[in-house]
Amino acid sequence: MIPALPFKDRDTISAVQEKNFSRMMDLCFERHPFYRDRFKAMGLSRGDIRSLEDIHLLPLVSKKDYAAIPSAFTLETDGLEEEATIQWDVMHTTGTSGGRPTPFVSTTYDFYNTLTANQRALEIRRVKGSDIVANLCPMTLHPYGAYHRTIAACNVLKIPVVSPLPGRPSDHFHWSANLDEVVDTIARTKASILWGVTSYVRRILIRAEEVDADFSAVRLAFVTGEAVSEEMRRDLTERMRRIGQPVSSVNVSYAATEMQVGTVECCPGSGYHNPAPDHFYFEIVDPKSHEPLPAGQRGLSVLTHLDRRGTVLLRYSMGDFAALTYEQCPHCGSWTDRFVGMPSRADDLVKVKGMLINPDVITDLLLADGKVGEFQIIIDRENADDRLSSDRMRLLLDLKPDADPEAIVETVRVATGVRPIVEEVERAQIFDPDRTLKAKRFKDLR
Ligand SMILES: [Zn+2]
Repeated sequence: MIPALPFKDRDTISAVQEKNFSRMMDLCFERHPFYRDRFKAMGLSRGDIRSLEDIHLLPLVSKKDYAAIPSAFTLETDGLEEEATIQWDVMHTTGTSGGRPTPFVSTTYDFYNTLTANQRALEIRRVKGSDIVANLCPMTLHPYGAYHRTIAACNVLKIPVVSPLPGRPSDHFHWSANLDEVVDTIARTKASILWGVTSYVRRILIRAEEVDADFSAVRLAFVTGEAVSEEMRRDLTERMRRIGQPVSSVNVSYAATEMQVGTVECCPGSGYHNPAPDHFYFEIVDPKSHEPLPAGQRGLSVLTHLDRRGTVLLRYSMGDFAALTYEQCPHCGSWTDRFVGMPSRADDLVKVKGMLINPDVITDLLLADGKVGEFQIIIDRENADDRLSSDRMRLLLDLKPDADPEAIVETVRVATGVRPIVEEVERAQIFDPDRTLKAKRFKDLR
């Protein structure tokens, strides 16, 4: 392990990446069931891959390939270092693509590496020894990274963490905390960092303001799991500054189960720093040809593990559009690679009444004046039983008393070309944080 690797110069980072990639290739050619077979079928031998320059010769794998046979992506570790032969835990993807979550196996070797990656991520996020973290990730049926690694990250930094356990995964789980209990836990423990899924953290802030909870220690929100527009960031920041520290800020991460850590910001808008360039090699590739694209160009984000012994993925498509930079960060001085601009799903645009609409634009409009609490955008048909009936856009809104629904209708109509139907509804009808992990902001029911 190289301490503070993200802050070393580019040559040092590249050298350790090459060294780890070479070892990872040795292991995959010999001990990785999926790649061993695939390379053989392709006629690819170990000698063909001389350095990271040759990485484009490896096939791109999709979430679908991995989910179809996850056990084939786990290394055979007999005879390797002892840490690599012990299974530490199995986390699961929280993917929204439907179907069952995919298991992601970590050996003890991987868990130790995960601690390093998380320590560096918190260093980049400028966490202090005096911080107290509220882990707002819910209890779920399948163990997953965000809940467990948040605790591990605090352990490695030797700072207190409280996990109030929101969520009701099963009739056999008796310790669920409802929204008010979570708000109370944050106030009672004087937590300074709120760490969770964006929509849930936002709901906590809305509720805390309503009940006048003591959030005076709150200074940071670490949000993940959902794209965060600048409007969403502003909305969250203003809410925090009203009830927490006046200098509160929102720190967004672009994370994946397949990393067990996130790429993180050092300050708002800095881009998402790779906290462990010795563990993760990112590429941006052309979505059709899969050829690597130059720095700064937006394309498909692809992850290669450089130093794992459990589940190992090479050139794994993360399913997002993003751009990378290798320039030194002007804010923190690190040389690690950064994603710039919020990575987004490839399929964001929808057609409504013949108009091409970006739901994110509507979200930004709804967040503009702080008068909309929870919200949901629904596209359906005027007559659900008639496939030929006209499309319509409904906005389910939880509004403050001084909000003007007619003005919202008009703003959205002007921006999208489609006149929405506004329906005022109960907050819990839109998003009940006791029942689901994330708020579903957009539903296409056609
Ligand atoms: Zn930075």
